[in-house]
Amino acid sequence: MMVVCAYCGVHLPKSDSISGNGSFYCSEVHRQAGKVSQQP
Ligand SMILES: [Zn+2]
Repeated sequence: MMVVCAYCGVHLPKSDSISGNGSFYCSEVHRQAGKVSQQP
């Protein structure tokens, strides 16, 4: 299964992704960046 990084849009295998905030990210860096950008 392929997922899309919610921060940069790259496609990657779900097994290689990092999940957070109900989304997937390509790396821990983007998970942190995506979390910062998702202010309510
Ligand atoms: Zn990314």
